Amino acid sequence: MHRETPPRTRIRIDTDVCIGAGQCALAAPGVFTQDDDGYSTLLPGREDGGGDPMVREAARACPVGAIRVPEPEA
Ligand code: SF4
Repeated sequence: MHRETPPRTRIRIDTDVCIGAGQCALAAPGVFTQDDDGYSTLLPGREDGGGDPMVREAARACPVGAIRVPEPEA
């Protein structure tokens, strides 16, 4: 029987808001990087943050609040 994978914590970057300040990539270089235009993007396979505690720090560091880190389900 097919079972659905439980929803994972997915980080979301609001690219309409991102100004390419790079603070996220600086704070959590294992999760965030910058694309060719300098905007934030997630590293492949790190869409859920990979358990990196710095993800929240990166979200805090973003000057425009473009990063959403969903709370893990209790
Ligand atoms: S810190 Fe915020 S504004 Fe800067 S690149 Fe990251 S998401 Fe974009």
